[in-house]
Amino acid sequence: MEQHEFDVVVVGSGAGALLAAIRATDAGLKTLVVEKTALVGGTSAISGGGIWIPDNHSMPKSGLRDSVQAAFRYVKTCARGLASDDRVLAYVETARHMARYLGEIGVPYRCVPSYADYYPTLEGAMPGGRTMDPMDFNAGKLGVQDLELLRPTSPGQLVFGRMHINAFEARSMLARERKAKFVLMWMMARYFLDYPWRNKTRRDRRLTGGQALVGGLFTALRKRGITLWLESPLQSLTEKDGRVTGVVVRRNGQDVTVTARRAVVLGAGGFERNQQMREEYLPQPTDQAWVATPPDANTGDAHRAGVAVGGVLHLMAHTWGAPTIYVPKEEKYRAMFVERSMPGCMVVNARGERFLNESGPYPEFQQAMFANHAQTGGAVPAWIVFDATFRANYPIGPIMPAMAVPDAKLRKSWLNTVYWKGETLEELAAQIGVDAQGLVASARRMTEFAKTGKDLDFGRGDNVFDRYYGDVNVKPNPNLAPIEKGPFYAMKLNPGDIGTKGGLLTDRDARVLRADGQAIEGLYCVGNNSASVMGPSYPGAGSTLGPAMTFAYRAIAHIVGKPIALEHPELLEQSELLESA
Ligand code: FAD
Repeated sequence: MEQHEFDVVVVGSGAGALLAAIRATDAGLKTLVVEKTALVGGTSAISGGGIWIPDNHSMPKSGLRDSVQAAFRYVKTCARGLASDDRVLAYVETARHMARYLGEIGVPYRCVPSYADYYPTLEGAMPGGRTMDPMDFNAGKLGVQDLELLRPTSPGQLVFGRMHINAFEARSMLARERKAKFVLMWMMARYFLDYPWRNKTRRDRRLTGGQALVGGLFTALRKRGITLWLESPLQSLTEKDGRVTGVVVRRNGQDVTVTARRAVVLGAGGFERNQQMREEYLPQPTDQAWVATPPDANTGDAHRAGVAVGGVLHLMAHTWGAPTIYVPKEEKYRAMFVERSMPGCMVVNARGERFLNESGPYPEFQQAMFANHAQTGGAVPAWIVFDATFRANYPIGPIMPAMAVPDAKLRKSWLNTVYWKGETLEELAAQIGVDAQGLVASARRMTEFAKTGKDLDFGRGDNVFDRYYGDVNVKPNPNLAPIEKGPFYAMKLNPGDIGTKGGLLTDRDARVLRADGQAIEGLYCVGNNSASVMGPSYPGAGSTLGPAMTFAYRAIAHIVGKPIALEHPELLEQSELLESA
């Protein structure tokens, strides 16, 4: 069998894995990255790239004040005892240092001042600023050849199928701010006038979101000359005397053993693409096809490899849930993050009844679907229903607003696959198999709520989080408008996800733990490969990528013998006292 030797072997090429490799190399370690697919970046590359970083360096510039103490209280409440306090504290303390490091290696971030935490009424929550977005990244720094190796973003995140759009621009357009049309004109001019670049590739030079994040990390990886093996899936871990000593990977059809003198860092994503594991661990019904992550990539390989050397699994019944929709010819389902927050739509079950706040956080959405399905048997799938006014003004899934792309110009194959249409609500109800009386009653009630601005059933638009994605022109509640003008439309929503959050249990330095709580020497784990530090919750946008990279940062410090000490251990003592009080 072929033999190789490195100090550190990193498995996977998502954000956490790449950051681990870069940091390890900066610390003088000879590092190898092995990636299963032919492309770099995993789900991280197709993500929004947002990271949730309490008390970050960019907040004071926006006049925001935060503290580790407040963030600790908030995440601890969110995590509901399913992540250890010292791990939570390690996260909220180290995340800001990691964010600064990102800037130093050429991947700068800035905070989004008005993007609220997902549970803005909990103690310690912030009305904005903890979510940070990557600055746009010039793909010229990476080069066209490597750009082709960067997993491309999903079609849903491109404007006119070509141009990248960043979160600030997307929000401006969705919220129909006045500057939106200038933003669009600028984007188009910038893309189409860039002849030198367009002669080389169709892909946009300006990378945004997850493309900017992974494009930047990939550039940093190349600058350091780090060895990268694509199409080289991890098969198993090697061990000696209870210590992990390396990996076996499949390369060019052969098993290759690689010795890791110091450590193996697992960052091979979740198990969302493994139907068997979904059926074993997740709430039912479940289907890997409903997932918005790259097909065939994250199948829990490294979960199993970790268990085989004694690691324990935790939080396996949880996902980073989000409603998803099917679009013909696309390789994966699309997550519906924000469109459902815009005014003039509602989500109903088979009885035509609403059962949730449509503008609420997407993970809650999936949980509400399962809860209602258990009661009524009719919330999987659920239906998002909207009227002609909504259709005219807002994009939804792959469908652009009717004022830009009227029904006659929509792809014929999308009718009755992506969207359903009826001249009346009764006609629509018959098509989608929903109770017509219930649907009409729900639409009437929403129309009443829109007049007063108060959703008496689910409080839609009552908090800053809901209103972040609303129409600034709609009063009194930017999330509520009548649903009364035909034709009416519906789209089918599945309880999908953007990754699973259960995985190998780790300590605050990302070391994989055995059932007795002892760490496995030489084995570290980050990202969705590990059990989330957020427990079952999603405290704010960026709660998966932020921890993935922060624990990679902490892991390397530990590997080089300089573990990052807790800055505020007294908070742990206080929390223990509170619990025993
Ligand atoms: P990944 O990024 O998926 O990387 C795992 C890598 O490991 C893959 O490349 C995979 O091919 C590889 N791999 C798998 N098995 C093996 C093996 N056996 N050997 C070697 N390699 C292997 N989260 C946020 O925090 N902020 C956001 O803004 C955000 N936006 C999102 C938007 C969308 C549309 C989606 C789908 C997700 C979004 N997420 C976001 C979620 C986030 O992208 C994922 O949770 C995160 O990328 C997971 O990172 P990871 O490194 O664990 O896995």
